Amino acid sequence: MLVLTPPGSTIGLLGGGQLGRMFGIAARRMGYRVHTYEPAPDSPAGQISDREFTGSYQDGVLLNEFADSVDVITFEFENIPFTVVEGLAERRPVFPRAQVLHVCQNRAREKCFLRNGGYPHAPFALVETPSDLAAAIERIGLPAVLKTADFGYDGKGQVKITTENRPEVLRSFSGPAVLEAWVAFDRELSVVCARDQHGHALPFSVAENHHVRHILDHTIAPGRFDPAVMAQASEIAEAITHDLEVVGLLAVEFFLTPDRQLLVNELAPRPHNSGHFTFDACVTSQFEQQLRAVCGLPFGSPAPLTAAVMVNLLGDLWRDGRMPDWHPVLKEPNAKLHIYGKTEGRPGRKMGHFCVLDRNVEAAVTTALRIKEELHRANSLLVSAPA
Ligand code: AMP
Repeated sequence: MLVLTPPGSTIGLLGGGQLGRMFGIAARRMGYRVHTYEPAPDSPAGQISDREFTGSYQDGVLLNEFADSVDVITFEFENIPFTVVEGLAERRPVFPRAQVLHVCQNRAREKCFLRNGGYPHAPFALVETPSDLAAAIERIGLPAVLKTADFGYDGKGQVKITTENRPEVLRSFSGPAVLEAWVAFDRELSVVCARDQHGHALPFSVAENHHVRHILDHTIAPGRFDPAVMAQASEIAEAITHDLEVVGLLAVEFFLTPDRQLLVNELAPRPHNSGHFTFDACVTSQFEQQLRAVCGLPFGSPAPLTAAVMVNLLGDLWRDGRMPDWHPVLKEPNAKLHIYGKTEGRPGRKMGHFCVLDRNVEAAVTTALRIKEELHRANSLLVSAPA
């Protein structure tokens, strides 16, 4: 049955991060009211919301008040306790459904889902104890990556195991975790796929992702891959989206091996950092498409209007807690600056991004990387300048 939530209604958003902020901006533009629920006050999404609920995920009374104040609920963050989402679903429709969250919020369940569905992935083993881990290392070989089952993102909860650090990792290990074979990939790519309440799936263009220290550094869209690889990545993403019966968005991250094999690395049932380019460069952004899916509206076109390069701005630029000098981005007429409203710029923390638009993808890459370098130069000079 279609749950139609027209403009003028109120959307409940679980999680208050930057993904929620951009979702909220898209929703408000189309005349929706937005209520967020997030444990920390003055969150990036809370700042642009009509109403910001600040409370823990254990606060049943406040969660019920939140649910009763909205027409439909979605989320921007997958580490919300599954039982909370199940409880909210008894009061209001929740999209994607809680079961999707249950699979994607835990790496062990996610890997088993990929294995059971026959989706290509790196060899892995589920490990609970040091002796499980020792046996898994024997089977999978080194190097390998050990990832905690819960609460892992942006390389958090991950350690690369080599013959050198093996004894130390074994000594300090406590599970549950997933041991994954190290993939000597050539490139990384991702597809954000939307799926509506009728089961119609619509992917965005394939994005080419470059990570630095396990964190996304920049995304190039459309990705510079062989068309057959891009078609296969989109097909796999669509198939998984159907398999999980997602209503909303599913981001699928892949490794491309030197022999052109695609391996699924990770799933995220929400807008994705590698889809931020869609905000500036596509007819419909990933955030608006999530809104349309959740609200039972027809999809907008995901077609790109131009090529784009998105560069993440990490807290490392916020030297001495000072807001960086944005002139290198602002002086570029084809660059768009996005700042998330976080007050504390810790190293590695995603604080904003910029997006360079150009009809020519190579020109966009050159400009984006030049701006990035200028930003770093401008802001390290600021630190050494006399106060
Ligand atoms: P994840 O949190 O699993 O998305 O990992 C973050 C990044 O770490 C990935 O985008 C890769 O750059 C790197 N990484 C994760 N798993 C592996 C692996 N099995 N082999 C090589 N690199 C990996």
